Amino acid sequence: MSSGKNSKESFEFNGELIEPGSRVETVIKVGIDPLGRKLEIPCFIFHGLIDGPTVSITSAIHGDELNGVGILHFLIHGYDNIPNNNDDFIDVTKLKGTLILIPIANPESLLLKQRRTTDGRDLNRQFPGRENGNHSQRLAHKLFSSIIPRSDYLIDIHTAPGTRTNLSHVRTNFDNEVCKNLAKAFGSNIVLHSLGSEGTIRREATDYGCPSILLETGSSNSFQIENVREGLAGVLNILRSLKMITGEIREPNFRVLVRKSRWIRAPSGGLLHCLIDIGELVEKNQIIAHITDPFGHKTDDIIAPCNGIIVSIATIPLTRTGDPLVHLVPLKKMFEHVKSIIGIDDDLECKEELVNDDEGVQLDDMVFESSEKTEPK
Ligand SMILES: [Zn+2]
Repeated sequence: MSSGKNSKESFEFNGELIEPGSRVETVIKVGIDPLGRKLEIPCFIFHGLIDGPTVSITSAIHGDELNGVGILHFLIHGYDNIPNNNDDFIDVTKLKGTLILIPIANPESLLLKQRRTTDGRDLNRQFPGRENGNHSQRLAHKLFSSIIPRSDYLIDIHTAPGTRTNLSHVRTNFDNEVCKNLAKAFGSNIVLHSLGSEGTIRREATDYGCPSILLETGSSNSFQIENVREGLAGVLNILRSLKMITGEIREPNFRVLVRKSRWIRAPSGGLLHCLIDIGELVEKNQIIAHITDPFGHKTDDIIAPCNGIIVSIATIPLTRTGDPLVHLVPLKKMFEHVKSIIGIDDDLECKEELVNDDEGVQLDDMVFESSEKTEPK
């Protein structure tokens, strides 16, 4: 996988030779679209002067999930979106290793503001793709074969669909120590265990030998500046932990490693009035949402089944029986600690807890709306 990569040598990328110490804008050529235009995936490469690992970062594999685009644009240019000045995060003359950055992995879907590719498939169920397959499989193949065999690590950035919002958190396979350490290095409070569905770039890249993590942050179709800042800080933490760049690694005040957690589903249909936000602590038996009828009469309370922290909530009031409304990570000893440090911004020692809630489920066992189900091959 990583053999033979020496940053003192040129970096070969799809036939192009990239000199050490250079920043290059290039594309991954996918083919020709129905109107005869080139279908290309924009790609930014930093090839450092000094030896080090190669990290790929992908975003907008789902074309409506944009926070990762913001994260990568700022990573490339700094917060002023202008390259080669003193607010840049990456100095290629000091960078150890190589960064392959794909801000818009699914350009056609981005144009349509939609999750799926233009042939109606979920691109993040098609990896590693097929060279001679259908449109989505070819797109997956081009992306995967261009970056994963050249990479030592992958960070894939997503958001919740438009019906929910997610607290910034990372997901990875805890049974792979490299993945787990990479996820911890990111520095989010919540780290979820999940292999990922078959055909996701994260799972297939990890199986290929390129340990991968996924960042989930915010909701679709917008640049949410807080999420973008947090995501960028996490990516920089990872690059520091891999010694690719210098700087202080910012540890979170607490970290919860979650194998199983609770998804609270709607007991009945109606309109959802959420009383809590992501990142909030809730206590056992606390009312966290109401469901009402069309006249506004309360028909059901949504009750927290245990103490915990809210990681995801539904943002669309329209609710059908069984819809996942709230993702709650149960907290035990950590609950009092987190409560005691709310609003404190100082660098505290990072306390860590493993949550493996007997009554909870693993993320991979959850089935959401049909748009997230695995695509037939
Ligand atoms: Zn996604």
